[in-house]
Parts: sequence; C-alpha cells; structure tokens
Amino acid sequence: MRREQGRSAIVAGAGIGGLAAAVGLLRGGWDVTVLEQARELGEVGAGWSFAPNALRAADALGVGEEFRACSVPTEAGATMRLPDGTYLMRFQPDADPALLANHRADLQRVLARHVPAEQIRTSAAVTGVRQDGDGVTVTCRDGGEVRADLLVGADGIHSTVRRRVWPDAPEPVFQRILCWRGVTEPGAVGPVSGFQTWGRGARFGAHPLIGERVFWFLTVRQEQPGLRFDDDLGEVSARTRGWHDPIAALLAATPPEAVLCHDIYDLDPLPSYAKGRIALLGDAAHAMTPFLAQGACQALEDAVVLAAEAARTSSVPQALNRYDQARRPRTQQVQRMARTDPKLSLSTSGATYRLMTTMTRLASSGVARRKSARLWDWTPPPLSTEGTR
Ligand SMILES: Cc1cc2nc3c(=O)[nH]c(=O)nc-3n(C[C@H](O)[C@H](O)[C@H](O)COP(=O)(O)OP(=O)(O)OC[C@H]3O[C@@H](n4cnc5c(N)ncnc54)[C@H](O)[C@@H]3O)c2cc1C
Repeated sequence: MRREQGRSAIVAGAGIGGLAAAVGLLRGGWDVTVLEQARELGEVGAGWSFAPNALRAADALGVGEEFRACSVPTEAGATMRLPDGTYLMRFQPDADPALLANHRADLQRVLARHVPAEQIRTSAAVTGVRQDGDGVTVTCRDGGEVRADLLVGADGIHSTVRRRVWPDAPEPVFQRILCWRGVTEPGAVGPVSGFQTWGRGARFGAHPLIGERVFWFLTVRQEQPGLRFDDDLGEVSARTRGWHDPIAALLAATPPEAVLCHDIYDLDPLPSYAKGRIALLGDAAHAMTPFLAQGACQALEDAVVLAAEAARTSSVPQALNRYDQARRPRTQQVQRMARTDPKLSLSTSGATYRLMTTMTRLASSGVARRKSARLWDWTPPPLSTEGTR
C-alpha cells in the first residue's frame, strides 16, 4: 500500500464507527493507527439493524458485499403488532425496503479485515490528547504516546477524546429507558422474519441473524438509572408474559448469561464535531436513543464523509471543518427525532398508548414509509480509492 508523508491518522476506538473511519482513511492513502481499549475485538454487543443509508455508506467504503453477506433481511422496520398478536402494520414486500440485521461482532470482523492487523492496537486506552500546529499527540493508559496529523475520536458515548478536547460538553443524558438484549442459540428456534410488538410502556422486537439465530430486545420506561436484576431473562419473561408467539420461545432459546441489560443515554447536541486536527465521530459525537435504529448507520455515514473530506482537502483543520459542517445538521436532526420518539412510543399513559396504536393502525405502513424514506435519504460523497487494499 502506498503511504504519503504527512498523512497519518489515529482513530480512537475500534467500534463500527472507528473501524469504518479507518477503512475510509486507508482507501484515501492515509497511514492509520487504531487504538482500542479492549484486550481484543470480540463477541461484544448483540444484534442490530441497518437501513439503506448505511448500505450506501458500506458500498462507498468498499465493504458492501461483505456487509450483505453477514446480514439477513428483517421485516421488523414495518411490522408492528400488539401484545395479543394483532397487526398494527405489516411489512409489504413490494413497497417496504427490508432492513438488514446482523450481529455487531460479525460486522466488526468484516470491517477489521480491511485494516492491517498490525495497525489495530488493542489494550490501548486513550487517556490524554494534546494538539499543536503540526499534529496531535495521544497518550495511552500504559504511558505510551502516538503522534499523527489527525485524530478521530470514535470512542463511543463516554468518549475520552470528547471529554479532553470539549471539556464543557455536557455529560450523556439518561432517557428514562431500560433495554434488555439477547441472541438465541443457533438453530434453537424456528426462523422469524422480524417484528416489533408494542406494549404500554414497553417495546419488544426481533430480527433474524445468520447462523439460524434470532436477536431480540425489550425496551421499557424506567424512571431511574442503575436498576439491575438477578435474573434478567426471568424479568423479560415476566414483563412479556402472555404476549404473542414466538416471544416466549425466543426467550426460552436464549442463554440467560448472555442477556445484556443497559440504561439508555444519549447526548445533547454538541456545538461542533471538529477542533483543529481532532474530530468526533459516531456515538462520541452524537449518541442517540436506539428508537430509530440509526446510531450505527449515522456512524457509517460519518466515516464516509470524513474520509472523503480528508482525501480531498490538503489542510487537516479545513477538512475536519468541512466534515463538521456536512455532518452536524443531519446527525443532530436524527438525534432529536430519536429522543422525541420514545416520549410517545414508550409512554406508560393509557390514553397516549391507545392514541398512538390507533393512529399507527389507521395510517398503516404508508406514513411510516414516507417518514423512513426521509430519514434514509442520503447519498455518499465519492471516495478516493488511493491506497485501497
Ligand atoms: C440497545 C441498542 C440498540 C441499538 N440498535 C441499533 C440499530 O438497530 N441500528 C443502528 O444503526 N444503531 C443501533 N444502536 C446504536 C449503535 O449501537 C451505536 O450508535 C454504535 O454502536 C456507535 O458506534 P461507535 O463506533 O460510534 O461507538 P461504540 O460502538 O461504542 O465503539 C466505541 C469503541 O471505542 C472503544 N473505546 C472507548 N473508550 C476508549 C478509549 N479511551 N480508548 C480507546 N478505545 C476506547 C470501545 O471499547 C469501543 O470499542 C443501538 C444502540 C443500543 C444501545
């Protein structure tokens, strides 16, 4: 691969956003070092779904084919049921684009394959950042330092880069939501095509995954953060008792020790995603609630735009400024929508629940389709392929 003098980048964080940024920068001929705090890139997280905008981003990065190969179409974006099984909205194959569902670990593997292994340093937690006119120096927990022309802070919602470089930025905000997630054992349950089920103050969803697995989630209204349970699977079963098939079967097919339980936080909009030679990307910049299933999709979009600007503009601060201008309006609009949505859709008020479910049934998928089409309407900028591996 061709390397250019003075075109070195550090990416803090090897999540989906950080790895996608690394892939994009490598394609533009940058020399990239990824610093990841975890000891290895492993089976972290669970499943998720991706909309067409994310697929366009993956195509622009040159990983679209492998992205599709590790994913399964899911109808969950347009199939909405009540706990008794009644359909409020049903996926229409000729009108609704299927989303693609995959496991975070599978997608992370796909992206990591496009970054030379020696350029991903694990057990490398970023603790300090300083920049001068010529570059950025990053300090890791072990005391080691790395210097480069550009730093991408893709280190998630609790970003150290954000805290060091944007010390006045507000802390993440608890959105009064608790979420459980699980993945069934391979082949332990029949195939599902994907659905969501809308209870009062509770939303269950399921997506098929490769390897005859199913990913499921349950989000509920929860006033205080930090509530934890001895038996998460038992808690989810109790909260969905009597709900339609195959919810109980999915839970029965899930190893209890692998159930994840998290409080949902997001970020208030930041005044900027770029400062000099440092940019924030993905959840570090605009963490949002999962209610639009767009957090990782937006991280992929960020990565394409950042790589395109970095390839096109020779001044790093200028390139990052253009990235900020291009990304902030869109991501903050999605962030706002993702914060507003659960205020209604996860309301525990009986009147709001009846109103929302009735409106959803009457409007059917046409209105939802138009709303989604606006959300997914994004065209990637052309990406230089210099240095493509
Ligand atoms: C319940 C739930 C469901 C979701 N469902 C969807 C969905 O269906 N579709 C969708 O598009 N999005 C979804 N999202 C959002 C999505 O998970 C995030 O937006 C996405 O993972 C953000 O990726 P990221 O790379 O920015 O951050 P992360 O995935 O958080 O990655 C950050 C990485 O940085 C590392 N790191 C952290 N600190 C440091 C440090 N100091 N030094 C070095 N490394 C560090 C971490 O170990 C991690 O590997 C969901 C989120 C939740 C919570």
